[in-house]
Amino acid sequence: MDLRKEIREIQDFPKKGISFKDITPLLQDGKTLKYLTKEFASQLKDLKVDVIVGPEARGFLVGTPVAYELGIGFVPVRKPGKLPAETIRYEYELEYGTDVLEIHQDAIKPGQRVAIVDDLLATGGTVLAATKLIEELGGEVVSLNFLIELGFLGGRDVLKGYKVESLVIYE
Ligand code: 5GP
Repeated sequence: MDLRKEIREIQDFPKKGISFKDITPLLQDGKTLKYLTKEFASQLKDLKVDVIVGPEARGFLVGTPVAYELGIGFVPVRKPGKLPAETIRYEYELEYGTDVLEIHQDAIKPGQRVAIVDDLLATGGTVLAATKLIEELGGEVVSLNFLIELGFLGGRDVLKGYKVESLVIYE
């Protein structure tokens, strides 16, 4: 199945000059949703993954069905103030300013093998922040899996040392 054909590109969203990759057409088609979920699951099936982590918000949409398919749990990483119980936080640099991500303190147990699943790898800042949170809790990040990778932004270089896999790569 050619996933690339179903990705919708929206020019100048959310800001002028950005060509946004819209994944909603892939999610709303049952066959495509099943296909991409099974592709992710087959990338991960031999890695003895204990839990899937997905960053807010589209990481929830692609990560949870993969966890279900593998028969393991799902843990959300969220923007500040959204998670109700005790959290740890990680602050990271953006082009202009900083951003913060949080995870529940008891969500990952020391020694657990974790895969992060997200819709898109751009600069790598979001997923790198998620790895820091998981590692602070004693988890081991064994794989980073994306639906789409914007290769020209060099996210893989930021994620050196991690296993990175993407279903569709824009060079
Ligand atoms: P990064 O931190 O790698 O620069 O950005 C990746 C994050 O931004 C992902 O969590 C992703 O959801 C979001 N993102 C950035 N650009 C796009 C885009 O064009 N399409 C989609 N679907 N998400 C994007």
